Amino acid sequence: MRFVRPILAALLALPVFTQAVFAQPSVTVSLKPGRDPGQAIDEEYTRKIREYTTETFFNSPLTDYLPASKNVPTPKAVLGDVAGAPGILPYSAEVYKYMRMLEAATPRVKVFSVGKTEEGREMIAVAVASERLIAQLDANRGRLAQLADPRTIHMDDAAADRLVAASTPIYYITGTIHSTETGAPTALMELAYRLAVDDSAYIKAIRDNVVTLITPVVEVDGRDRMVDIYRWHLAHPGQNWPNLVYWGHYVAHDNNRDAMGLTLQLTRNVLHTFVGWKAQVLHDLHESVPYLYDNTVGDGPYNAWIDPMLADEWEMMGWNNVSEMQKFGMPGVFTHGTFDTWSPSYLMFIAATHNGISRLYETFGNGGADTEERTLRPNEYSRTWFKQNPPLPKAKWSQRDNNNYEETGLLTALAFFSANNKLFLHNFYLKAKRSILKAKTEGPAAYVFTADDPRPGGQADLLRMLQDQGCEISRASAPFTVLMPAKKPRSGRGGRGGAATDGATDGDDKKPEEKPKPEPRTFPAGTYVLRMDQPYSRIADTLLDYQYWAPNDPQKSIYDDTGWTYGELGNVQVARVTDAKVLDAAMTRVDGAVMSPGGVEGSGSTFLINHNADSALITLRYRFPGASFDAAEEPFEAAGRKFNRGSFLVRNLAAADLAKAATELGVRAWAVDSAPSVKTHPLRAARVAIMHTWMNTQAEGWWRLEFDRLGVPYTYISTQTVAKDADLRSKYDVIIFGPGAGGNAQAIVNGRPMYGNPLPWKVTPETPNLAHTDETDDIRPGLGWTGLDHLQNFINQGGLFIAANDTATFAVTFGLAPGVSTSAARNLKVTGSAVRSKIVDGASPILYGYSDNLAIFAANPPLFGLSNMVGGGGGGGRGGGGGNERATGRGTEDDPDTPQGRVPSEIPEEPHGQPWEATPLTDEQLRNPVNVIPPAARPRVVLRYSNANELLVSGLLDNGGELAQHAAVIDATLGQGHVVLFSNNPFWRAETKGSYFLVFNAILNFDNLSAGRKLASR
Ligand SMILES: [Zn+2]
Repeated sequence: MRFVRPILAALLALPVFTQAVFAQPSVTVSLKPGRDPGQAIDEEYTRKIREYTTETFFNSPLTDYLPASKNVPTPKAVLGDVAGAPGILPYSAEVYKYMRMLEAATPRVKVFSVGKTEEGREMIAVAVASERLIAQLDANRGRLAQLADPRTIHMDDAAADRLVAASTPIYYITGTIHSTETGAPTALMELAYRLAVDDSAYIKAIRDNVVTLITPVVEVDGRDRMVDIYRWHLAHPGQNWPNLVYWGHYVAHDNNRDAMGLTLQLTRNVLHTFVGWKAQVLHDLHESVPYLYDNTVGDGPYNAWIDPMLADEWEMMGWNNVSEMQKFGMPGVFTHGTFDTWSPSYLMFIAATHNGISRLYETFGNGGADTEERTLRPNEYSRTWFKQNPPLPKAKWSQRDNNNYEETGLLTALAFFSANNKLFLHNFYLKAKRSILKAKTEGPAAYVFTADDPRPGGQADLLRMLQDQGCEISRASAPFTVLMPAKKPRSGRGGRGGAATDGATDGDDKKPEEKPKPEPRTFPAGTYVLRMDQPYSRIADTLLDYQYWAPNDPQKSIYDDTGWTYGELGNVQVARVTDAKVLDAAMTRVDGAVMSPGGVEGSGSTFLINHNADSALITLRYRFPGASFDAAEEPFEAAGRKFNRGSFLVRNLAAADLAKAATELGVRAWAVDSAPSVKTHPLRAARVAIMHTWMNTQAEGWWRLEFDRLGVPYTYISTQTVAKDADLRSKYDVIIFGPGAGGNAQAIVNGRPMYGNPLPWKVTPETPNLAHTDETDDIRPGLGWTGLDHLQNFINQGGLFIAANDTATFAVTFGLAPGVSTSAARNLKVTGSAVRSKIVDGASPILYGYSDNLAIFAANPPLFGLSNMVGGGGGGGRGGGGGNERATGRGTEDDPDTPQGRVPSEIPEEPHGQPWEATPLTDEQLRNPVNVIPPAARPRVVLRYSNANELLVSGLLDNGGELAQHAAVIDATLGQGHVVLFSNNPFWRAETKGSYFLVFNAILNFDNLSAGRKLASR
């Protein structure tokens, strides 16, 4: 960054480049920012910019004026005022209207439709560049595609140099993914205008050397709702306004955590745009930190699977951005901060995992377009080594200020990028090349998905997600054998799991261990292979590998989840193969989406379907609600095959209809003439309701999303609906209360504070976009005591209530799960990690189709305790019960302390249970057992957390001993009904597909959950 070169020198030297040219350090921008005195300015617009900017130092020479144009309209044409004007937030349609006006007025702008949202709103991408570059977009893209996949040019560096010399990079900017962060759309409207119109040398150099691509609104559904709420606020002065309960159709802030699972339309649309355009940068705009935190540099730990070249690019761009804006005297601009770049789930990270450069700004927003006095906290305004000119402790702040920062940051970033456009293009090529070489350098050589995986549906689902990420999948045409690294014996010292409280300790063995040898493993024909010698190998590596976050990592403010290993959480077998021989196996590339085989074999009127916990099974059940489905309560053999416990016996269904559905869903069925003799019970297409609070609807949104995708019908109700409905049981068989209710158990009952005015969430002429989710005249009231009573009646009358994490605590708090208690962990740290579970009662219908050792997702899980007594007592294992400790006295532990002058008496055995069990009852407790829960009414523990030394699968786990061995999934009984409690979260960001069927089994077996249960004798 020390060398200053005239930017044009780099641009005009088109003939054959040598690699040395690109190996030079990046250049700073030598052109002076500011207006071209030869170009007229829009006087009125400029005056308004200055009027709405609250301090002169909240502006820059790049944005304190607007160049005039005779034929290109300014944002005022749509907004009626300048970008960032107080009181003005445009709907997405207005933003698009303006972008299309630009397109019509100048050949330097072109608008592309890039897809639809869940609710059918359009998403766009706007390209801005010189007319020459816009005219050649397709040819340029063709060259970029070759750089993006160096196999197409046989990894020939000289050919790459020629392509680099002839090509222009794409800088992709995305706005307002977070709907409460409202400034980006107007900033990006004005930015597009400036890039198209401004004739200053500074802007012209950007226009000539980079294609700026802009998606002004990423979360379109949420944007339109936010504008509704803001307009409601303007129309009701002096009143409180409802917060944005729903952003997108399913999730709120978490829409920026979908870049792994790709389940939201906005993620898929941005991914397809980024990858389709072969863009080099993805720069996502947010607003939560004063005044501009460019988290491009951020903080460690960085994601462990990125190319180190990317980290260098982050440093280059981030520090340059700070440096340029410091020169303008704008306070509060910094790039180092606590944001770690560990999780690849952020939207911008699509670039990082696809050989581009990810960037994210946090500017300062007021959540609307009001100009307000803002007071900061000391940690925000203090001067630190990386924030030499910090934000002001107190300042009047406007949306225009925010727009100035966003645009100035972006323009300096674009100037730096365009001055170094060849360097970054060459890096783009090198990163792609190194991704291909990865297979044989650092490895692994491939990820392998065996053809004999018992869950071909889950396997195909995972492979399709990887295909969506741009990965190529191949299929072995013959068996092949590779050497697999030997598994090291696990340390019993806690290691990853923290202090071990059980399990084997092998540390005493002083004999030096023999190094385990690699072992051959043969995979059958039909096995899927994800070769790592492909340009997007890194995304596969980061999704499929194991994560480890050290408990003593210096980063203490962990930004998000720490573990996500997709094979484990998806209950799919994934082999990480380092043996490069795998690349020589006979295989062919899969064309089209990977599908699991499905259909009907044999003949007969009864169809047998093996239960393997593949999600498609519930889709099939609800596809034919009128057909008769039964579940086998034991494993059986028929049609020459083995069927798991829980397998389906289907009748009253035409073979052709089943065959069609089974083929489409990837489910295999066997037709037989007579049903096998095995005990069965009906599997009903239960009537499901999903209940939400009006405080937070995000975490349950991930449940809804998957229920919709898998075709599981449900009625969407709120706690307020339940409060009003005294006869829930006649309408529903199952009520699901997803996690993340937005408050503790009492808050769920009480709702929001009832101070002030009602806060409506409903469609009115004023708020037309609040449709498609749920409605209420007032979001404040909660479940109420009446609602709680209704829920209790629902369960007592044979309904099933399902709760997870915090809502499980709610159910326990209000006595819906007698015999279960919850407590918060003291020192346990499990920050969005995958942990190992163990089966406790494999005969429970909840575990149909499952084998042991399932990885489940845990984030601050409640610790369940069990008791055979109402009101607790006798909680399992350590910490439970009490009163069992030895008193002060004589002798050793197993030597009775006999009082002097007395014959020794026999010491009765103290009963004790495992941490996941209730302590067995004593004779004393049974003398008058008014508080003893009858055996059939006691909670049934189905799944527990594994022992401490094998608890961690992926991510961070500290003091895992506190969680180890505790119950994870409990089937409790209340009256005629059941309450199924999850300590883990079975539906999370489409990462936990392996856990889904725990919930689906509960639903399908809601009226037979006690099947296979062994009752205690007393
Ligand atoms: Zn944000």
